[in-house]
Amino acid sequence: PREARSRLEVHGANELERERRQTAWQALLAQFTSPLISILVVAFVVTFLIAEYTDAAVIAAVLAINATIGFVQERRAEQSVDALMALAAPRSMVLRDGHLVEVDAAELVPGDVVELASGTRVPADLRLVRTTTLDIDESLLTGESATVRKSTDPVAADLLAVDRVNLAFMGTVVSSGRGTGVVVETAAGTQLGSIAQSIRAQERPTTPLQARMTRFAHVVAVAVLGSTAVAFVAGVALGAPAEEMFLTAVALAVAVVPEGLPVALTVALALGVRRMASRRAIIRSLPAVETLGSTDVIGSDKTGTLTANRMTVVAVWTPCAGHLAVGDVDVVDLSGPEPTAVVRTVVLSNEADLAHETDEDVVVEEHGDPTEVALLEFAVRTGVDVAAVRRDTAVLAEVPFESRLRLAYVVVDEDGAVLRAKGAPERILELCDAMGVDHEVVFDPDVVLAEAERMAADGLRVLATAQRRLDTEVDDVDPHAPPRARGLVLTGLVGMHDPPRRGVLESIRRCRRAGIRVVMITGDHAATARAIARELEIVDADDARVVTGVELESTDDSALEAIVAEVDVFARVAPDHKLRVVRALQAAGRVVAVTGDGVNDGPALKAADIGVAMGRSGTDVAREASDMVLTDDDFVSIAAAVEEGRVVFDNVRKVTYFLLSTGAASIVAIIASIFAGLPLPYVPAALLWLNVVTNGLQDVALAFDQGEPDVLDRPPRRRDEGVVNRVLWERTALTGVTLAAGSLWLFVWAIDAGLDAAQQRGAALTTLVVAMAFHVYNARSERRSIVATHVAGNRFLLVSSLGAVALHVGALYWQPTRDVLQVADVPAAAWLRIGVVALAVVLVSEGHKWWRSRGGVARLRDRFVRAAGRLSGR
Ligand code: ADP
Ligand code: MG
Repeated sequence: PREARSRLEVHGANELERERRQTAWQALLAQFTSPLISILVVAFVVTFLIAEYTDAAVIAAVLAINATIGFVQERRAEQSVDALMALAAPRSMVLRDGHLVEVDAAELVPGDVVELASGTRVPADLRLVRTTTLDIDESLLTGESATVRKSTDPVAADLLAVDRVNLAFMGTVVSSGRGTGVVVETAAGTQLGSIAQSIRAQERPTTPLQARMTRFAHVVAVAVLGSTAVAFVAGVALGAPAEEMFLTAVALAVAVVPEGLPVALTVALALGVRRMASRRAIIRSLPAVETLGSTDVIGSDKTGTLTANRMTVVAVWTPCAGHLAVGDVDVVDLSGPEPTAVVRTVVLSNEADLAHETDEDVVVEEHGDPTEVALLEFAVRTGVDVAAVRRDTAVLAEVPFESRLRLAYVVVDEDGAVLRAKGAPERILELCDAMGVDHEVVFDPDVVLAEAERMAADGLRVLATAQRRLDTEVDDVDPHAPPRARGLVLTGLVGMHDPPRRGVLESIRRCRRAGIRVVMITGDHAATARAIARELEIVDADDARVVTGVELESTDDSALEAIVAEVDVFARVAPDHKLRVVRALQAAGRVVAVTGDGVNDGPALKAADIGVAMGRSGTDVAREASDMVLTDDDFVSIAAAVEEGRVVFDNVRKVTYFLLSTGAASIVAIIASIFAGLPLPYVPAALLWLNVVTNGLQDVALAFDQGEPDVLDRPPRRRDEGVVNRVLWERTALTGVTLAAGSLWLFVWAIDAGLDAAQQRGAALTTLVVAMAFHVYNARSERRSIVATHVAGNRFLLVSSLGAVALHVGALYWQPTRDVLQVADVPAAAWLRIGVVALAVVLVSEGHKWWRSRGGVARLRDRFVRAAGRLSGR
């Protein structure tokens, strides 16, 4: 590693520069361009022109504060999101100090030996030293869509770099096969680097939620301008002096603008990303955060996502000896030529490695596909020395496992060439015309399939093994073009057990309660899939319908729509079948999250509403096509992310409600006082104080709320359902009016009590500040009573609401703030009444929650209809 580190210093990180998305200045300027803020800018200009310098100064200060908070919060949110997304950055398998280790692709240095497998994006320019049917898609560099077969052969020195087949180039993608290469160039020195010195930073798209909220902000802006204009005209018509009316209009505008909204929204999304990351789901695209909240189908792989991917061979069947009990024991006693042939095949046609030390003191750690690791462990249990067998047997050619092929084979030298294959039983049987090596057995594929089916029905993953001695005269064994496997002899079946992952069953149950369907989409055998699906309660019956890839081939899209509506398990599916299933579900209006790991899963991941890639076992291609990466490949993390997605949406609603209802309170109070012929209860500066300084942090604090315990007891939100719905308007109107009435009550009381004008305004403003500090707790749940919410649960909120009141009391006694806000201290008699108002707004909200729990408007309407029916019946 020391050598690698010093080379890293010399050559620099293996990264192409990213263009900056936005400079700090642009980001700061952007704070002023929102329609909400531009209203404040106009208000500032106008107050300045009519020489109300205090108000103008306050507005300017608020604009500055708001921009700063917005800028800082958004930057922080963006940086934390970037940092989290970087967790999904590409990694590479590298040989260092004799260990095969995974490192960040950015840490590669010239001289590193890198392993390539299908689905890998080549991390640097490599000189290939070993290839097995390595095909690379170089369209990124050449625009050519056909893949290039790579080899290690020397090439003519005068060839263009991109024509050299013994090089693999940074950024290109391995579409199948395996390879090993030595890094020759990194970063800017690579072919890709010479084309593009920097990769364009991806535009961060605005999320649908942000887009919707922007539209909402426009509506608010127009409403504000309209209502201020009306108020101004009405006031002047009623005989108020134009200048005072103008101030009122400005106050009105200031009162309604929910300045905090954009920032709170950004914060809510960023917090969602963070919470998901802490639950092992890394978000790669921000819109995914909210789409997750409305996800109603999760299509999941079986192996490794629903199951632990820790396999153990527990059953073996051979044509001559029949079923051999293997069980879960450490030492397996197998004798006879047939079992030996099975074991030899699974050892030689195998890319995995168990942890061991080689003769040259190189430590190899366990690595490889868990299926193949299990097969090696099985061989060890039967007493085979895996390393010795491999050392003593020369490999002449090999075809590594690809999901698409569902099989793997090698040609080895055993006193002549022998082909050994393993794979899905149906696939292997297609290539066989005999079975058994002990003595003659009649070849009957149905017998083998029935045995495989029996093992699969126990939930086992089944592989068949087969072999054939090649005749070098007929089968020309060329390492670059392995012979077509045919005429094989089936030697046996191996069944392995893969237990469900811990917590998956509970998670699936919770999904059900939350109205989320879980669908299994697997490459494994139908009976295996059904058995596991049954165990995990994805299906309820032992004979639940399972649709296979073959059946999908013969169904058209409209028939498929009917199938996906009722079938929960899809087996033996290829990636393009997965794509069709996703499309069919979407056509039925479902919001679909789907998992994938292989090279060919890209299209399905892209098409899904949420593409979920596996962080551990997934390929680069799958990761890059995904919206979300699971660091532990666990189904539980998907469900957790869906839950957090709902929390984000809930929190956005809470913030919106709080901002709308407090805006409504001030606007109702102002308009009511105009019509009642009262003086203006709040000067513009006081409203800004309320909106931005005292209660301004509480909206952001709401975004920090943990999820409510019932987030997963509700059906998914419809994707087109907006933030602002009827319930929210009901709540806004009720509490807004209560707050306004309370504030005016104190205002009028102060007038009647003969207090001076500053004290009157002080009483009105203090009422709002204090009552809102209580009201914000109403916002924490739409259904549950305040008493049922854990009031101290959100520390940030607790601090900001207590802080708001403390700050305000301070301001009532400090001369400079008294001057700016044009208020004075409030007598003790007022505080009692303020307490009553605070209590009232809580009670009103509680009453509304209770009333809604009993049916709300719908019930009222029912009653009305029934009463009308009775009346007309008479
Ligand atoms: P999944 O991951 O959904 O279980 P795969 O595509 O990995 O599906 O596997 C499909 C089938 O291919 C398995 O049921 C098994 O019969 C066979 N298979 C899986 N892994 C290997 C392997 N390493 N070598 C040979 N055959 C395999
Ligand atoms: Mg697999």
